[in-house]
Amino acid sequence: MSDTTKAIFTGDRCLSCTSCMANCPVMAAIKDYRGPKLVGPAHGRMHFSQEDIEATLEYCSNCKSCDRACPSGVAVSTLNMLKRAEYYKTHPHTKAEDMLAHGEDMGKLIRKLPFGALCANLGMDFGKALGIFNKLGLAGERNMPAYASTPFKDLYPRIKQTATGKKVVLFTGCYINQNEPQVGEAFVKVMNANGYEVLIDEQFNCCGSPLVVTGYFDEARQHADNNVARILDWKRQGIPVVTPCTSCSLMLKEEYHELFDEHDMHEAATNVYDAFEFLEILQERGQFNDNLTPTAQKYLYHVPCHLKCQAIGLPAANILEDYLGAKVQTADAGCCGISGNYGFRKDKYDISMKIGAKLFERVKQKDFDKVISDCGTCRMQIHHGSGIKPVHPIEILAQAY
Ligand code: SF4
Ligand code: SF4
Repeated sequence: MSDTTKAIFTGDRCLSCTSCMANCPVMAAIKDYRGPKLVGPAHGRMHFSQEDIEATLEYCSNCKSCDRACPSGVAVSTLNMLKRAEYYKTHPHTKAEDMLAHGEDMGKLIRKLPFGALCANLGMDFGKALGIFNKLGLAGERNMPAYASTPFKDLYPRIKQTATGKKVVLFTGCYINQNEPQVGEAFVKVMNANGYEVLIDEQFNCCGSPLVVTGYFDEARQHADNNVARILDWKRQGIPVVTPCTSCSLMLKEEYHELFDEHDMHEAATNVYDAFEFLEILQERGQFNDNLTPTAQKYLYHVPCHLKCQAIGLPAANILEDYLGAKVQTADAGCCGISGNYGFRKDKYDISMKIGAKLFERVKQKDFDKVISDCGTCRMQIHHGSGIKPVHPIEILAQAY
């Protein structure tokens, strides 16, 4: 999509080729969903002038496979999210939607309580065992992501770094901060090895992705405005913002300006990089530190949908193969099915597992040493569906320095 095209008008470009339908994992999983062509561009063509809402819009997971498949540049998934936002102007959210959209707020609250993370983790275990999740509208079959004993933002000051002229700001996103701080630590180790000091900015909010997919549009806009102002501030200082979370990088780089269409959002996007995208740029400039311990390990790589639609290739696979000598095989099994908080809903759990089934079977073949994936919720889904726990590729690279 060009910088000047509003997402809502891209529906006019639809050729009715049905490529988006053929590539929609939800449509393949259930017959009730009428699919991206009808739900996205058909409503987009109305330019939101109609009051009616397509009833099956709720099935869209915002995986963005349709956007990648569209030959006309229709912002299909964004049209869906804009229409969903319209729906929630006149319809109440459920308790489950409220909880799933506000993970950042819950995390902050829990950290204020004595032994908050421990109590929350025990509470989630009991909640699952007693069937409370199901009653709340959450998928009782799943474990909710456990809180780490110490969030990344509290670990960060303990990390010894050498101050250098080269700096990046780490945007951890909620999941790495609250649940997998070891990914943030691995990122710092890799960047330090490449001569960069890593800063954090505690004024950043959650990127807003969980809010967008659950129809909390005004709140998502507030997050976008705050984060964009922070990114532009760093840009003025010549310091890039880098994130190891592919859904966060997609949100900051592409979804803000597609959803809200502000000039500042386009400008901020030029200062945001996915972690391995940034490392690949260093490699292209001859600035990548290749003093790494090689490995003969074989990695099965699940490429997140939200990385695929950034059109930056597979920088993690390239770096692990070219500099570590690792064998990286893409799982090539489509969407994992979880799509952020989608698979955590009770009414979407079965769809989510059906979509992920091919990937789970691939992982269960166990013809590799480790599974890797850049997305936190993809890693959760793979673990849940196959019993095998994946790691972020930055953890592999950090171990080699
Ligand atoms: S975003 Fe994903 S689930 Fe939604 S219409 Fe597009 S392909 Fe289907
Ligand atoms: S892929 Fe694009 S052009 Fe084809 S039907 Fe879907 S939205 Fe229309």
